[in-house]
Amino acid sequence: MARYLGASCRLCRREGLQLFLKGDRCYTDKCAIERRHYPPGQHGQRRSKLSDYGLQLREKQKVKRIYGVLEKQFRGYFEKGERQKGVTGTNLLVFLERRLDNIVYRLGFANSRAQARQLVRHNQLQVNGRKVNLPSYLIKMGDTVQVTEKGRKLPLIQDALEAVARRGTPPWLELNKEEAQGRVIMFPGREDITMPIQEHLIVELYSK
Ligand code: SF4
Repeated sequence: MARYLGASCRLCRREGLQLFLKGDRCYTDKCAIERRHYPPGQHGQRRSKLSDYGLQLREKQKVKRIYGVLEKQFRGYFEKGERQKGVTGTNLLVFLERRLDNIVYRLGFANSRAQARQLVRHNQLQVNGRKVNLPSYLIKMGDTVQVTEKGRKLPLIQDALEAVARRGTPPWLELNKEEAQGRVIMFPGREDITMPIQEHLIVELYSK
């Protein structure tokens, strides 16, 4: 399964925004964007005005990076969103939010989506009582997601659960911290996705 293996902080600096890709470190003064708030690379500190196309492209890259999804899969979510009823941009974001790795992160079983993806790949999660090791698995309404008994003893998961109070659990998820179990009580609405995303730019880009 292809995934980005480069430096995460570079991605935040490119987008000029904290994307929270590194877990705890993102909440400390070690965050690279706090110290070097300009794009990476030799010409990073040059001012440049983006064209309309440039703005649309950056928005798409930003969202792909937040959720750790590569182009082909991302485009697939967009096409599914387009076929569904409702606003395409919102549908796209809801598909991304429904990914198992995202739900594991949102429930606080992992400190970042990358960590969540690794836990899923390593068979530490169950959906409705059955092991699922596919990070892109789409969660349905009413599904329960639970850390396996073995996984609950992992310091990484225990630490993440301790830190969950800082991030909070979204209103569309229900968390039972003692059992390391969560349930999807509804799909998120647009107002529940709080990262600064202008999804209409992505729709414009793909509609060309
Ligand atoms: Fe981004 Fe986190 Fe690195 Fe800060 S520490 S630049 S938020 S990945």
